[in-house]
Amino acid sequence: MTSQVRVRFAPSPTGYPHVGNIRTALFNWLFSRHWGGSFIVRIEDTDVVRKVEGAVEAILDSLRWLGLLWDEGPEVGGKHGPYFQSQRLKTYHEVAERLVLQGNAYYCYCSPRRLEGMRAEQVRRKQPPGYDRHCRNLSPKERSQKEDEGITPVVRFKTPLEGKTPFNDLIRGEVVFENRAIDDYVLLKSDGYPTYHLANVVDDHLMQISHVLRAEEWLSSTPRHLLLYQALGFSPPQFAHLPMILGSDRSKLSKRHGAVSITEYREEGYLPETMVNFLALLGWSLDDKTEIISPKELVDKFSLERVSKTAAIFNKDKLSWMNGVYIRSLSLDDFTQRALPFLEEGLPASVKRPLPPDYVKKIMPLIQERAKTLAEVPELVRFFFTQELDYDSRLLIGKGMNQEVTFGALKEAKAKIAELKTFDTDSLESVLRPLAAGLGLKTGQLFGTLRVAITGQTAAPPLFQTMAVLGKEKCLERINDALENLARPAS
Ligand code: GLU
Repeated sequence: MTSQVRVRFAPSPTGYPHVGNIRTALFNWLFSRHWGGSFIVRIEDTDVVRKVEGAVEAILDSLRWLGLLWDEGPEVGGKHGPYFQSQRLKTYHEVAERLVLQGNAYYCYCSPRRLEGMRAEQVRRKQPPGYDRHCRNLSPKERSQKEDEGITPVVRFKTPLEGKTPFNDLIRGEVVFENRAIDDYVLLKSDGYPTYHLANVVDDHLMQISHVLRAEEWLSSTPRHLLLYQALGFSPPQFAHLPMILGSDRSKLSKRHGAVSITEYREEGYLPETMVNFLALLGWSLDDKTEIISPKELVDKFSLERVSKTAAIFNKDKLSWMNGVYIRSLSLDDFTQRALPFLEEGLPASVKRPLPPDYVKKIMPLIQERAKTLAEVPELVRFFFTQELDYDSRLLIGKGMNQEVTFGALKEAKAKIAELKTFDTDSLESVLRPLAAGLGLKTGQLFGTLRVAITGQTAAPPLFQTMAVLGKEKCLERINDALENLARPAS
């Protein structure tokens, strides 16, 4: 298995790309790169009613963002195009006609009303759903009557009434379906568009797809496809159905479990490298324990043998943890570059733009350790940029302290700081540490009070480094404000 590997990601633009879609894209991409094959993107836009404006762009953007570049498909073209099914209608019509001529398909004139009635009756009788083959054996006379009535027919596949359709799924092993459980499904709709089944099979054949890696939900479509391949005399690709993705409560992954759209993760400030690593582990593993795996290693080690048959669990906590790991591993410059758009967007409007690059550069090392997402960055650094801090003055009074002690401590600290000639981490430490002892306070108590005074928060980056970045003037101003806040009766 080398250069003849040709796989495709075939999304339907009926919504924004979600975690499941992109996991499928990633596995196809990894498989193609591992075997030195081709990764093709094909847009399955045959459902005109469910088509969503902007979905194609969102899908392609997500792929690009994750670095899952395609060898053939929209924008890049290729030998087997067009790669939008809506531009291939003629081909599907020809194939459908050929199937009718061969006796493998037939025109069905049943009205939507008749089909609805049939379905209701099936439900009432607790029968499995499916077309009752009403038009399967129409005589030529009956057919021309229907034509004369001006009814536009659909084309249905003439599914064999008996026998079995077995196949070897590369992940699940031998799978067998009884043909009698498959109805005469539609190939060509009355609006002239093919169904997923027809277009998918025709294109996988014409685009010389060697392996179909797709979500488990399509498993029951595979026997339909195989029967179609057989009727057309095409040799089918190999199939591998990827396990479902469930939420932590083991129900189907949905909005309830947090964001499911890849675009949202991007907006929340997850790094593309995190998403690739995380999605790769949704159903595949290197060795059941390694969590952090580089894209190169994923490509080197990816194999269908290590794709699990059982459902994968989407663990949001693990995703946050992993994003923290990737954020910490970025160079400071890279981190700053990536955080900048989030800062521009997320800091209050009152903060002057553009943000001063040198000042930003000094701040970023202080929070790189703590950020779990890029979208958290503005909140973590807001106090560096805003003029006024807004906090409850009671926060200034630490454990075992009272208003008077706190006031005194802040006053003393202010005096010490004002005297400093150089204002950096070391000089701050050298006066403030002894001050705590002099005041009979624990360092934690004094520093806690100062932290609130300087940042307005009880948790913040290291205090002295923070103060050094803010500068002497600003620190003194904020201590003054704190003293005023303390002196004012609590509201
Ligand atoms: N258009 C289908 C989808 O949206 C493709 C399924 C397949 O890969 O065959 O998932």
